[in-house]
Amino acid sequence: MSNTHSIALEITSATSNSADDAAIEQFDFTNVLDGLNKYFDTRVTFSMEWRKSQLHAMAKMLRKNEAAIFEALYKDLGKCKQETTLAEIAFLQADIKYALKHIKKWMRPIAKSTPLMAKPGKSFVYPQPLGTVLIIGAWNYPLQLTLSPFVAAIAAGNCAVLKPSEMASNTSALIAKMLPEYLDTKAFKVVEGGKDETTALLQQPFNKIFYTGGERVGKVVMRAASEHLTPVTLELGGKSPCIVDKTADLDITANRIVWGKWLNAGQTCIAPDYVLVEPEIQQAFIEAMKRALEAQYSKEPKSNKAYGRIISQQHCQRVASYLDGQTIIHGGQIDIPERYISPTLVLNPALDSPIMQEEIFGPLLPIITLPSINEMFAFINKRADPLAAYIYTKDKEIESQFIEKVSAGSMLINDSNMFMLNHELPFGGVGASGMGRYHGKYGFDCFSHEKTVMKRTFSFENNIRYAPYTSFKSFLLNRFM
Ligand code: NAD
Repeated sequence: MSNTHSIALEITSATSNSADDAAIEQFDFTNVLDGLNKYFDTRVTFSMEWRKSQLHAMAKMLRKNEAAIFEALYKDLGKCKQETTLAEIAFLQADIKYALKHIKKWMRPIAKSTPLMAKPGKSFVYPQPLGTVLIIGAWNYPLQLTLSPFVAAIAAGNCAVLKPSEMASNTSALIAKMLPEYLDTKAFKVVEGGKDETTALLQQPFNKIFYTGGERVGKVVMRAASEHLTPVTLELGGKSPCIVDKTADLDITANRIVWGKWLNAGQTCIAPDYVLVEPEIQQAFIEAMKRALEAQYSKEPKSNKAYGRIISQQHCQRVASYLDGQTIIHGGQIDIPERYISPTLVLNPALDSPIMQEEIFGPLLPIITLPSINEMFAFINKRADPLAAYIYTKDKEIESQFIEKVSAGSMLINDSNMFMLNHELPFGGVGASGMGRYHGKYGFDCFSHEKTVMKRTFSFENNIRYAPYTSFKSFLLNRFM
């Protein structure tokens, strides 16, 4: 693409038709979708054997390419092997294992009861694949966020187009190279690229779009999907709050917040975005946080292999700009060319400053002192519904009030991020943090249509619903509905 063309596309907003038209002209994915739809129509993907074979193939792909995966994630995000193992490879292997273990049960039709008026008869919910689905991944966990929904799409028997994030270019290229070597190329395609390719893909009538990323593009995806009445799952982000109550064990709390926040250099959608503390423990909490930071990342995080890098210089600049005019009580070192920002604590930022208006999605943690837990609940509820909400407390009453009063996609008491590891729990946002959910059976459901099937017999004919209507028939209808 020429530079002139690319600039013209940038200037025209993502919502404008001319940008969309240019992208469609340049990238036409009609043939890709037609090919996948044709394959779907052969019903090869419907069988349990085929689904299992593809899941086994993905497990093998991850095993055989471990060294290349480590390298790609290190290049993209400075991710160390332990983090790549935990949050990308082992996470996906566990996802696949869980799907393989349960797929037979998930695929089974579920018998439901039948009301008297429809008897004799039987009722079922019969899960069927949706067709060809589009999965658009994000850059922060570029393997996990592209392949975990893909595991669910395969388990549910779909064909798929995967669009990994161009921002994590090494991982995107690796996915595009590995996948066709192991999985059924008639059922799955990887499309690499950014806004133009995604815009062109979004013009196609997919049977489902699964998007992970920010709110702005989430709206673009939903607008495009409405043209074809395509259902969407939007896995978005937001500012996830974390309350530390005065009864909490501060050392353990600090260890767990430091792990959850600075994993992947703060670029985790469910990471605590800011902490709310009561005045009487503010200083002790700050000291505990400094100790935990030093214990986990040493005095020199920049040369510590466990500490990652920001995805791009542009994002590094965005995050660094949030520090303007703030009271930095720990860290604050910035090296834009190296894409490095040290783990940084900010005390009581102005609530109208960008650090408290935007999702940080980087290694800065504001600590805000509020006089009471009730004011903390009100503070959270005044803002958009977060993807995750955390509280550290030993007080059972406060714990139940938190569950009852605070709205969030997921919540966790006395730890950070750990709910992600439980395949039995749904993962997804609420309100501005997204719609739809996945993981485990919820992922299977996300990529299935739950088809209603009712079966009746000819052995008995009940005419009370037929005209001519009489008051006796109305009486019976009222009794037996
Ligand atoms: P991103 O820039 O990687 O974009 C996501 C995808 O959208 C990419 O594949 C990209 O190519 C595509 N895209 C970008 N601009 C587009 C446009 N104008 N039109 C069509 N497609 C476009 O990711 P991001 O938005 O920077 O991701 C960060 C956000 O994602 C944060 O808000 C974070 O909280 C959220 N997130 C959510 C989850 C979750 O599971 N809920 C996970 C990770 C990140």
